[in-house]
Amino acid sequence: MKTLWILGDQLTHHHPILTQYDDSSTILIIESQNRWKKMPYQRKRLVLLISAMRHYANKLKERGFKVDYIKAHTFSAGWQAHLKNQKPAEIVTMAAASYPGRQFQQKLSETVNIPVTLLKNTQFLTGIYNPIPNPQANKRYVMETFYRQMRKRFDLLMENGQPMGGQWNFDKDNRKKLPKHDAPPAPPVFKPDAITQEVMAEVAQLKHAIGTVEGFDYAVTHCDAKRAFEIFLNERLTKFGDYEDALTPRSHLLYHSALSPYLNLGLLEPLPLVQAAQQALLDGNAPINAVEGFVRQIIGWREFMYWQYWRQMPGMENKNAWGAKRPLPQFFNTGQTNMACLHHAINRAIDTGYNHHIERLMLLCNYFMLAGIKPKVANDWFLSLYIDAYDWVMPPNVIGMGLNADGGLTATKPYIASANYINKMGDFCKSCFYNPKKRTGEDACPYNFLYWNFILEHEAKLRANPRTSRNVLGLRYLDEAEKERVQAQAKQFLNNLE
Ligand code: FAD
Repeated sequence: MKTLWILGDQLTHHHPILTQYDDSSTILIIESQNRWKKMPYQRKRLVLLISAMRHYANKLKERGFKVDYIKAHTFSAGWQAHLKNQKPAEIVTMAAASYPGRQFQQKLSETVNIPVTLLKNTQFLTGIYNPIPNPQANKRYVMETFYRQMRKRFDLLMENGQPMGGQWNFDKDNRKKLPKHDAPPAPPVFKPDAITQEVMAEVAQLKHAIGTVEGFDYAVTHCDAKRAFEIFLNERLTKFGDYEDALTPRSHLLYHSALSPYLNLGLLEPLPLVQAAQQALLDGNAPINAVEGFVRQIIGWREFMYWQYWRQMPGMENKNAWGAKRPLPQFFNTGQTNMACLHHAINRAIDTGYNHHIERLMLLCNYFMLAGIKPKVANDWFLSLYIDAYDWVMPPNVIGMGLNADGGLTATKPYIASANYINKMGDFCKSCFYNPKKRTGEDACPYNFLYWNFILEHEAKLRANPRTSRNVLGLRYLDEAEKERVQAQAKQFLNNLE
């Protein structure tokens, strides 16, 4: 008897474990209720995960596999029930994407006294090709170099060994504000079926969860996730690049793909997506800046983050290179703030579990960074709320990219900005109580005095980094009296936050 254990975020159609299946095998999937209670998770995220697992198990059964789907309080209890009923002589499982999961797998053999075979994780392209297999401990590696190697290895957007369109990077074309009359298409809606409705009713009852199950409309099967991708290809990809960095209350999604929940669960796999996007370019259906931008996100940033996570674990989630000490401001739990951009972003996160990248980076993380919020606290806030959050993806994005708390191993500079950036990239400031142009005073945007306060506090460190020394140069426009006003207002504001 052989047990093939599939984890809840490994719902891939071509799961490598299926090649090991024979008449003596049972596929094991455990739904651990304690897992859902580890922290107060956003309810739609739980619905997505649980419903996708149940649909996946049913699909495997339809495909002729024997499946033991166990609902238990803990993974250990689930294992005990399975061992008692099935008495396996060997266990096979695919390596977990996250560190705690992999630790559990590595200790499983000792715990249950049965040999365990760990298969390579196939949910990331770095499982096939790792551009930097033996990184040096404290050396910086930049995403761009990593990404170019991935492009070459997987032959994506390459022409006779050179990048298509004559350049590797079209980021400069991808920083437009959403024009006044541009209305991005509505996101796709997948009506909950009977299984999903049952899960919604269960999750609605959970006491320590956030948001509501009402309005759940994510895809929960391979077929619907593929449909979501096709809709993105047909309706959004052409403008994906142009408005990638735009900020607006007018559209939830802009031209982003919203595919991360499906990729991270295994409902979609990275290579077919980028190959289809490349085909759209070759067929003349999408411009190079859009396609290159999308390919960069998937085979560049996503893979690089996974690589950084494994390079810096264990301990990455506790890094704090800027010595930030403050707890989470209360309004991050409610969205109640006069700052229009944060009000929108936090409420969206509570309601849907989704913000696009620039909202996560330049609104939320920027605020956490400037206000000196403890990185682990920020990490956990994102981890509990986001529809696409998993242990492997949070530390590199929050600790590494967003807060530069890993000493710059993930990103070469802290992503900090004043209200000037937010105003330039969007139209949140138009409806805001605060004035994006004022540095101090009652209606000055907090991003402004917090930004200058941060520059003053960390002047030497920022000056020493060639990528942030320009930020420090701006101090020459502040006389001594203005510096004092900035610091006094920031101090008062931060004291009130606590
Ligand atoms: P698109 O803009 O359409 O991009 C396409 C795909 O590229 C995404 O679906 C995603 O799979 C991938 N991608 C792009 N950048 C990254 C990245 N930095 N890390 C991982 N994948 C990336 N991504 C998550 O998958 N889960 C998270 O919990 C998460 N939290 C984040 C928190 C912070 C503070 C920051 C700065 C980034 C975070 N990201 C996370 C990365 C990125 O913001 C999301 O992947 C993206 O916003 C998801 O929306 P989308 O599918 O519409 O992305």
